Amino acid sequence: MKKVELLAPAGDLERLKIACIYGADAIYIGGQDYSLRANANNFSLEEIKEACDFAHKLKKRVYLTLNIVFHNEDIENVYDYIKKVVAAGIDAFIVSDLFLVRYIKSNFLVEVHLSTQDSITNYLSVRYLQEQKVDRIVLAREVGRDDIKEIIAKTNMAIEVFIHGAMCTFVSGRCVLSNYFTNRDSNRGGCAQICRFCFDINDETDSFSMAVKDLNMSRYIKDMIEIGITSFKVEGRMRSPFYLATVLSSYRRIIDAYYANNLTDDLLQKEMKILERVSNRENSTHFYFQEASVKDQYYVGRNEVSNQDYLGIIVDSKDHLYTINQRNYFKVGDEIEIITPNMDIIDYKVDNLYNAKLEPIEVANQADSMLKIKIEHDLPLYSMLRKKYLD
Ligand code: SF4
Repeated sequence: MKKVELLAPAGDLERLKIACIYGADAIYIGGQDYSLRANANNFSLEEIKEACDFAHKLKKRVYLTLNIVFHNEDIENVYDYIKKVVAAGIDAFIVSDLFLVRYIKSNFLVEVHLSTQDSITNYLSVRYLQEQKVDRIVLAREVGRDDIKEIIAKTNMAIEVFIHGAMCTFVSGRCVLSNYFTNRDSNRGGCAQICRFCFDINDETDSFSMAVKDLNMSRYIKDMIEIGITSFKVEGRMRSPFYLATVLSSYRRIIDAYYANNLTDDLLQKEMKILERVSNRENSTHFYFQEASVKDQYYVGRNEVSNQDYLGIIVDSKDHLYTINQRNYFKVGDEIEIITPNMDIIDYKVDNLYNAKLEPIEVANQADSMLKIKIEHDLPLYSMLRKKYLD
């Protein structure tokens, strides 16, 4: 059985490297044009090449989104752009406009994946797209389990589905709230997340929100593998490196445990605890088992917490003296965890801390400063320190 792909988002080179070393099999990125996340830093042509070189050395793949809604004025330079990006080493394009399918498949030996923006929900559309030589389809997020299974059984098409992250309140790619509220075109990279705003309806009631909860399919990975899905996609090109490392390593452990025949309930409970802790919203399975409903949605009292669990990342080491780029407050005496690119989670009690001049200090309280810490474990670069998630 071919192993399912774990597909990660990356908004810049740092995140791409973190995704590669924390368990992703493939990473999707946006270029500086034609991508739906205009607020992410996005990749220049040089950075796309560097991203592909880095990922390919680790036997990972890189996909580029070209999934804006193209108007006439967007077309002029896109062919030239595609040629340059193919030369940079991209493995696949994620497109939403059908003219790109024909152009790319007729001229290059790269895969074309149809974006979730196209809202594909049935096997007849999938068959049509197969005839157009589309290699993979990212189904609409609104397709349920039984329909996914039937689509795969009737078409044998490579199917990608979202497993984790934020969801649109509206059918993906069919929302113009940002255009009306902020003059920003959500279908050309300008979504201002209006659905997450709180609206005052009158003076008496709490403010109203139409935001949906996040998607979290960790408990059902076994089922999703067994119905034949090709790729599991994590949402979030704007998410932090810490979020990516935490989420990807959890899914990596679940997927690997499944294929090694040791996916236990204990392991699942542990990973679900981690995934709930790193998220800043409640979560749900949305459309997978039934139509999403009132319980999958916020209306009032939206509870979003900012996460300050990320304490620092190891950026250098010498004889177990590690240099840490600090992110949030911690102090000597704290019980913390260290996560590593080897997928380990190590309990650690902070018993020493030094500033950059190697003078002992008691607290780390200057975000982004460089600190030193002696730790007896062998820790790879990019290991991360976080607050304690597990008992
Ligand atoms: S405003 Fe909300 S529903 Fe609309 S595109 Fe943006 S995230 Fe999706």
